[in-house]
Amino acid sequence: MKSEDRPDRYDLLDNESIRSILKNRKTQFLFQLPAVMFLVLVVFAGFFGIQNSNRSLVTNSVWVIWWSLLIISLAVAGRVWCLMCPFGAIGDWVQRRTFYKKVNDTFSLNRKLPVKFRNLSLAAVFFLVITWADFQFNLVNSPLNTAYFIVALLGLIVIISIIFERRSFCRYVCPITGLIGLYSMFAPFELRAKEKETCKTCKEKYCISGNENGYACPVFEYPGTMDKNNHCVLCTECIKTCHRNNISFNIRSFAGDLFTLTKIRMDEALFILILLGVTIFQTLIMIRPWVGFTRDLMVYTGASYDSVRFILFITAAVVPVLVYSIAIGTSKLLDIKISFKDIFTGYTYSIIPLGLMMHLSHNIRHLLEEGTGIIPVLSDPFGFGWNLFGTSGYIPAPLLNINNILLIQWLMMLVGLGFSVSVGKNISRRMFHGSDSAYIPVLIFVLIFFVFNLWVLGQPIMHKH
Ligand code: SF4
Ligand code: SF4
Repeated sequence: MKSEDRPDRYDLLDNESIRSILKNRKTQFLFQLPAVMFLVLVVFAGFFGIQNSNRSLVTNSVWVIWWSLLIISLAVAGRVWCLMCPFGAIGDWVQRRTFYKKVNDTFSLNRKLPVKFRNLSLAAVFFLVITWADFQFNLVNSPLNTAYFIVALLGLIVIISIIFERRSFCRYVCPITGLIGLYSMFAPFELRAKEKETCKTCKEKYCISGNENGYACPVFEYPGTMDKNNHCVLCTECIKTCHRNNISFNIRSFAGDLFTLTKIRMDEALFILILLGVTIFQTLIMIRPWVGFTRDLMVYTGASYDSVRFILFITAAVVPVLVYSIAIGTSKLLDIKISFKDIFTGYTYSIIPLGLMMHLSHNIRHLLEEGTGIIPVLSDPFGFGWNLFGTSGYIPAPLLNINNILLIQWLMMLVGLGFSVSVGKNISRRMFHGSDSAYIPVLIFVLIFFVFNLWVLGQPIMHKH
């Protein structure tokens, strides 16, 4: 039904069936259980199954299927993955010592994370380390290393859940929380308070404290002021605890958060730029000209392949920050009324749609060209010679030819560019007194990355799998 206060939103919780499903304490568990069971299978396959990445359940299901679907899901549904994430589930189960019931005592020291870490700094470092580890230990091609990685991550989340309160890991440490949070601002769904005024006058604030129906928000959000998707892990606890039924789960337009943004943060701004660089780097290292380029650099500098790749990786993460700083310095010259920090932070959010579509266009190629590799694997998940569904002899073939994939990628890039420009102009209007001149250098920055990524996408590729 259309919300009367916000006619551009449809609240799915106005539907009684959906509301009662989401109020049920078992619902999240029913999403988490299959995910945890699959994770166990994946770890088993990594340790004891076939190590050929083309035939492995681990590499096909995690790095081709899951990772591609995750990025797609962020664009179309937001942080819905977090609702079922097996890592978050295991952290919760250990901490609460129950699968879905509401208990008062938790198995945790409930320490608060130091204030200086309550931002994206730990997540950014972790994200860069994991991305680097992917290159260094060839995670995407190694079932065994992927299994080690999953077990190490599980160990970390269990330790953090036992020491720190609620889902401190998900909010501040998870290596993909920054990426998931920022991309989910584009999604056409949002969980929000129906009426902020009702929250203001609410004395109990059970969404913050929890009650007999549910837990306090595990990621320290307060629906009364929440205005973007970044941190909400869609656990549905506030739907259960709010005694005034003041939570809505809305369908809205794409990029809704970006068009209404009011709270901007430097840690998010830097993460957006680093993510942009890392995304391009991940595509760059797969194209054929990359091989010649790195070989020439090795000959010229006398450095090893690992050193050259490491330096280029760090360069890729830093270059967007530097180029963007130059663009913002120029914006500042064109409009001296705005502070450098505000203009730097504010406009980075306009880059999110383009960055997301660059990421999507990279992963959609993996999915369309390599996704069918899962078909024979499902029949023989461990490489033991089984044929469970009669498909173990299937020879994987791309779902689309390269020209059609390229067309889809270019369309995605155009959609990203369109949204980015539209959000940028909206930010100019709302935050910077309609200063179009301040936006021009940012627009040039966006166009440079757009054109460069189009060129990268058009290059012949060397598949990881
Ligand atoms: S979401 Fe519900 S419980 Fe929380 S402050 Fe608003 S009205 Fe109160
Ligand atoms: S805002 Fe509500 S749904 Fe989102 S994480 Fe907090 S309690 Fe869960």
